[in-house]
Amino acid sequence: MDPEYWARDIDPNVPSAARMYDYFLGGSHNFEADREAARRVIEAMPQAPLIARANRSFLRRAVRFLVASGVRQFLDIGSGVPTVGNVHEIAQGLDPDARVVYVDIDPVAISHAQQLLEGNTRATAIVADLRRPAELLDLLRRARTRAVLDLSRPVGLLMVSMLHFLPGEGTYRAAAALRDALAPGSHVVVSHPVSDAIDARAATEVEAVYRRTATPGGLRTRAEVQRFFDGYALVPPGLVWVPEWRPDDRADNAADDDGEPGADPRRVGMVA
Ligand code: SAM
Repeated sequence: MDPEYWARDIDPNVPSAARMYDYFLGGSHNFEADREAARRVIEAMPQAPLIARANRSFLRRAVRFLVASGVRQFLDIGSGVPTVGNVHEIAQGLDPDARVVYVDIDPVAISHAQQLLEGNTRATAIVADLRRPAELLDLLRRARTRAVLDLSRPVGLLMVSMLHFLPGEGTYRAAAALRDALAPGSHVVVSHPVSDAIDARAATEVEAVYRRTATPGGLRTRAEVQRFFDGYALVPPGLVWVPEWRPDDRADNAADDDGEPGADPRRVGMVA
């Protein structure tokens, strides 16, 4: 990785969830500590890279669905290291005027996003923490992000494969605070690994690896994931395994790409 990116307060010896995920996806924006931690996850759960790819496919389908539904602005929280098929590429590929703000707690992820977005006046990236929704909303109201995202118009709020890094009750309140700040017609997209479907020993080993990162996390049950949407209408088919959420294109389904057709039973996704 280019040393320019870790000149700031980044310790390359501490693995990061964002960079481990980049490794699962075959990216190169990771350090040896990230790769080593990711390899330990793969040892405990060999499907981890497949799950990551199926998750990215879900994200692409959800963004396409929202653009087709009239949404033109996206707030992607826990956006991670930019990789193939980023939200702005999908949304702006369908409508060049689509707007995207990327948010992540990982400064390396955001540095890469900012570099990628240079010259793109309709997309930007900021470092912020979902656990501090008031600060996040405050940042969104500042000039640089306000020029991109108009909070008086509908927004697609994406929290894809990231809420499990924020265990505890406070996360429901944080997600609700953001959701409540959005205009009518907004949508929320979530994917989340569920403990009901993961072998307990593998989960314990994986959690031990992530405990060494800055975002340790923990699983939720399917019912606990559903709680993020209490009182809201789910877009059909509702809360399902990610490859089952509107699989519009076989080539876009990572599970099928690997010759393993069918649902990936470890992560659920939905749009509300
Ligand atoms: N959303 C992307 C996707 O689905 O491809 C990336 C998911 S990656 C597994 C999870 C991301 O959540 C990481 O980049 C991590 O840094 C970020 N994250 C974890 N805790 C966070 C927090 N409290 N606020 C913002 N981002 C966070």
